[in-house]
Amino acid sequence: MIQLPTVSAELDARGPQPFEAFVTLIAELYPLVHEHLALERITEFGLLFRWAGVAASDQPVVLMAHYDVVPVDKSDDWTYPPFEGRVEDGWVYGRGALDDKGPLAVILEAVENLLSAGFTPSRDVYLSFGGNEETYGAAAQSIAATLRERGIVPWLVLDEGGAIVDAPLPFALGDAAMVGVGEKGVLTLQLTARGDGGHASAPPRTTAVGRIARAIDRLSPRTFRARTPPAISRMLGLFADRARGAPQLLLRTLATAPWLTARAFSIMGGEPAALVRTTVAATMQQGGTAANVLPSQASATLNLRIALGETVAGTVRRVRRRIADPLVEVTVVESGEPTPESATDNAQFALITEAVKASYPEASTVPYVMMAATDSRHFHRFSPAVYRFAPLKMSNTQRASIHGVDERVEIGSLERGERFHRALLQRLQ
Ligand SMILES: [Zn+2]
Repeated sequence: MIQLPTVSAELDARGPQPFEAFVTLIAELYPLVHEHLALERITEFGLLFRWAGVAASDQPVVLMAHYDVVPVDKSDDWTYPPFEGRVEDGWVYGRGALDDKGPLAVILEAVENLLSAGFTPSRDVYLSFGGNEETYGAAAQSIAATLRERGIVPWLVLDEGGAIVDAPLPFALGDAAMVGVGEKGVLTLQLTARGDGGHASAPPRTTAVGRIARAIDRLSPRTFRARTPPAISRMLGLFADRARGAPQLLLRTLATAPWLTARAFSIMGGEPAALVRTTVAATMQQGGTAANVLPSQASATLNLRIALGETVAGTVRRVRRRIADPLVEVTVVESGEPTPESATDNAQFALITEAVKASYPEASTVPYVMMAATDSRHFHRFSPAVYRFAPLKMSNTQRASIHGVDERVEIGSLERGERFHRALLQRLQ
């Protein structure tokens, strides 16, 4: 799978051939899947397999993954060539090993093995594989829309996102299966100000650049309200169960006092702060063409990540109010609403927890909120139980290798990942 360079961002240069070869390859590798499941191609790069369950139902399980990968930077120094698929000392190296061909392979392995044992799931199971996740393509979106048009509302959707990680917080010891229960929204804004051009030797009090600078300065981290998502309180509670002494007391206090968590995490800044509120970052600034000329126009691009429970419209309103300058124009370049937050006290989360116990007995299953976007967001608009978790072990170095150098997965972890999906499908009611 790794040997096929399904680089969606390089589709124009490489052509669709690697993608077609991938579809052919999985048909060869998983003959029972292709014999017993119905395959539909939805748009050029969407694959939807349907495995009919014992009882017909409009509430299937949807297992998602994507088979496209991100490009490799030619100047990066990989230990083994990124598209060789080298197997060495119990590890598989190559682009896509973790994101997301490994997770895709363990789904197919589990289904193939269950089929060879004569197993039929208790309800319908769909496998939804997209070939343009990394380029925000429409394959998964079309698959979600297709199911919705057919009146199908998944009982459970499982996609990439979290993983089995070691010591996810300073005080949280041991392995944890981090399950994403929601995704923040994304908003790109452009701020534009006009001013009188002219020579820089006699500037007016306020220039276009000055207005933009002042607007950015007014957007402090405190522009947005901090609020702890329920999943984060639950996460802290679960970590508290495994901590000892003072850290345990601290985590337990935070778990039961969401307002305190919101304040503490905001003060910490960085990732903790990003978990509890909308963030704003000025990314690109423009204005001026010469060292001694006042620019008649200046602009800045802002990248915002919208907290769960808030909206694009509300965020834009708040930015305008905070900037409080009618001469700074605020326009929306691109936007996506945050997803709802999936519950953690339901049968679906319990099922994921059981499947983790069967495959990684030492890991506890813990919810969290994702800052990155996954294909599953298209399902989250109409399906309440959407979770983001790939049953593979990822150390910090391994996580850094995703979209980076020396991406690799341990074969032992692939075996456990297969066990996870097998356990999940066998325990399905
Ligand atoms: Zn991915």
